[in-house]
Amino acid sequence: MQLFLSTKWAGLFIALALVFTLLSPASAVRLQAFPRPWLDANITCDPQHQGFQVFKWLRDGAGGLFSRPFSKTLASTKPSPALYSRYKNDVVIRFNVTTPEEEHALAQAADQMFLDIWAFTPDWVDVRIRKDDVSSLLSLLPRSLRPSVLIHDVAAAVWATYPSETADNVMLGFGKLNIAKMKTSFERMGKLFFRDYQTLAVITNWLRLLETMFPSIAGLVSIGKSYEGRDILALRVGAGNETKQDRKTILIAGGLHGREWISTSTINYLVWSVLTSYEKDRMITKLLKHFDLIFIPVLNPDGYEYTWQTDRLWRKSRQQTKLRFCRGMDLDHAFGYAWEDSRHQTDPCSESYGGDQPFEAIEAFELAKWAKSETANGVKFVAFLDLHSYSQQVLFPYAYSCSVDPPNKENLEELAIGLAKALRRPHGERYRVDSACEGVVLHADSEGDAVSRVEAAGGSAIDWFYHDLRARYSYQIKLRDTGSYGFLLPSKQIVPTGEETLNALKYLGDYLLGNNGIESSPFRPSAGEWKDLRGRRR
Ligand SMILES: [Zn+2]
Repeated sequence: MQLFLSTKWAGLFIALALVFTLLSPASAVRLQAFPRPWLDANITCDPQHQGFQVFKWLRDGAGGLFSRPFSKTLASTKPSPALYSRYKNDVVIRFNVTTPEEEHALAQAADQMFLDIWAFTPDWVDVRIRKDDVSSLLSLLPRSLRPSVLIHDVAAAVWATYPSETADNVMLGFGKLNIAKMKTSFERMGKLFFRDYQTLAVITNWLRLLETMFPSIAGLVSIGKSYEGRDILALRVGAGNETKQDRKTILIAGGLHGREWISTSTINYLVWSVLTSYEKDRMITKLLKHFDLIFIPVLNPDGYEYTWQTDRLWRKSRQQTKLRFCRGMDLDHAFGYAWEDSRHQTDPCSESYGGDQPFEAIEAFELAKWAKSETANGVKFVAFLDLHSYSQQVLFPYAYSCSVDPPNKENLEELAIGLAKALRRPHGERYRVDSACEGVVLHADSEGDAVSRVEAAGGSAIDWFYHDLRARYSYQIKLRDTGSYGFLLPSKQIVPTGEETLNALKYLGDYLLGNNGIESSPFRPSAGEWKDLRGRRR
């Protein structure tokens, strides 16, 4: 691993990649699927020159590795004035809901006005709405429900989530610097990468690069195509001696909802951290020796791309529905478990519309198809983490109903509390633990009667993985924050959010390896490991 820290890392990993390509037929097939211009024979042997070539490809090939290093790419990723004006009349408001009557009224109003509900916990509901529509909404609600304003200027908050000009200036100068003098390291690349949110094209090239740099433990595959034909990429990371058939697997997905950028950046952070920590961090090394980790940073690539190009606050996929002007399906109401048992949303214009039948949404179908074929090949999914934002919650099955308890409810809850503790430790951020059924989209039935919110949550991903795939530990984790920025979390929170989620991933691995209590630890830890364990359990 130290190889990659050298100033000559570029040349070394090119050599490794070439050797790997030649020696591994399976991987060679996989590698051929993606262009890797730095492998061209006409790149000279001068390591500095190679380094530059790699960077140049990363920037040009992806429209800029670290966002937008060239002026010609600025126009394509900077939000257009039209996008800015789209939100200029919007605010995000919060209702503290305390009685069933208040919830009833809010549920009806949400359906009636097609409200964009941002988040909901048992205590509060956040809504994005045009300023001009607030009085109409309030006229439908009891006087006891009066909101507070969370985000006064949505347009400014949207604008702030795109890469900053300052970051551009740093990047613009990047290619002009003397590579050797700068002593570029992989860590530095990571720091630059996580300074901003990244486009789909950049993430794609980043994943390709990681696969090439860590060929012995990482493999990139496409699990299927989105509605608009984009690859849904998954990076499998593992260091066990067993064959793939015998591997216990932890699946970690993000980007199911387009606008939840922090979920995607967090997956990228986890990927980067486990790869660069292997054989350095004892817990990560142990994790990779015992499990395959499969990371899917962007489960909904069409929606994610749309948030960069057109509508920063787009949630659903981009699939055509039965209503021409209301595109997209909510992928978290698109999976096949408990579909019939739930009252699903039938209006395609709703933000929670998941299609008219199970797995009608292409991306959900492709994920399920791929996961089933993996299972048929002997892969055992032992855990599934579905990262979302926002509200800082660890949610466990079932989502579709609170009236049915999952068979291992106590274990699910126990681990969820442990995950929340692990999430809190690095930076003190508190995460609630709830059953997923307690926080689903408010809903009114066809007669206009409000129904309890627990009845509108069929077809969730965590329920399907839990029930149909037998992933015993299945969680939806809603990442930062608790409403100050909502989906528009500033990019300076990418790394801290990644750090706390990495800590949770380590905790998960530790738990799955049997260390449910420090005294029952099946191995004899070294002094350092004890310290690490104690530290994480405090
Ligand atoms: Zn979400």
